[in-house]
Amino acid sequence: MAGPSEADWAAAVAAVRDLPEDPEVLLICHVNPDGDALGSMLGFGLGLRRLGIRRLQATFPGPPEVPEPLRGLPGAELLVPADRVYPAPDLMICFDAASESRLGELLGRLDTAGTSVVLDHHASNTRFGAVHVVDPAAAATSVVAEELLDRLGVPLDAAIAECFYVALATDTGSFRFAATTPAVHLMAARLLATGIDPGVISRRIFDTRPFGAVRLYGDVLGRARLEPASAAGLGLVWTYATLDDLTRHDQRPYVLEPLIDSVRCAAEADVSCVVKQIAPGEWAVSMRSKGRVDVSRVAVALGGGGHRFAAGFTGRGTADEVVDRIREQLDGAVISDDSEGCRPSGRA
Ligand code: 5GP
Ligand code: MN
Repeated sequence: MAGPSEADWAAAVAAVRDLPEDPEVLLICHVNPDGDALGSMLGFGLGLRRLGIRRLQATFPGPPEVPEPLRGLPGAELLVPADRVYPAPDLMICFDAASESRLGELLGRLDTAGTSVVLDHHASNTRFGAVHVVDPAAAATSVVAEELLDRLGVPLDAAIAECFYVALATDTGSFRFAATTPAVHLMAARLLATGIDPGVISRRIFDTRPFGAVRLYGDVLGRARLEPASAAGLGLVWTYATLDDLTRHDQRPYVLEPLIDSVRCAAEADVSCVVKQIAPGEWAVSMRSKGRVDVSRVAVALGGGGHRFAAGFTGRGTADEVVDRIREQLDGAVISDDSEGCRPSGRA
């Protein structure tokens, strides 16, 4: 999919510029929000504040729980539980949501809002709003959000920059993945120039977890399995975590997010996967590929989505049944050597 056109940018600028007097603006990011979803939304929200927009809410569907490391983000005061947001805002802006299903119970706002703008970077974006600024070449949704603020004439300040930095660092795996282009480092430079401290921010966001999480990682990684024959012989490595694991170690679900990075280290497998129980018989699945398999094909076939080398879906049944379904899809998701862009991005 091509990136946003000048007409797309102009329509997004107009959606903000042409708002009525004292408008209601609702910002929504995807369910189970990560650093890019919250960071791009809150950073953009702070930018709208600078434009004088007073009645402004930020939210996300599902449980209204922000992962502990992201609670201190600037702009967090804009957050409102999903059941208390404007029923018919003048403008609704969606962040980092590839499809309407990622808006959960807030989906209906697309019909009641005066207009809607979708800011995203997923190639699989289903273009479910009125105006779309979707750039699959962007490393994070915050890349798109930063440019839109710039086009609206809002200068960066340290609070906005901290939000966008968290978003950018999250989706580039702290500037390790192939999506880390010169443009990404130039954006990081603009953000750091506001005076934010990357050491402090990274420690808080990525490197601070309760001791119970360390013990939990031991349990979950200790049961990882390697299946060299899966994915047409390219190999699969996977593990799972249950609600009981979380309870036993007194931990919240967000602590499981970094586990995929440990599992995908296994050199013997191209595909890695962590199956995380979110309710009885319901699992959130994270998949990664080193480059030979398009895991978004697997995810889409199983009702989810994502990027070529980082994708996910919600599975039902037992963990083994969920992994059976993944195995069945893997052979058909191997990228042929002559297909374009066969390059791991690892981006989330
Ligand atoms: P993660 O494994 O980090 O949760 O997600 C990796 C990528 O997969 C995300 O950027 C997101 O695009 C996609 N993804 C994960 N879970 C789902 C899901 O349940 N539905 C859809 N549509 N995409 C998902
Ligand atoms: Mn993202």
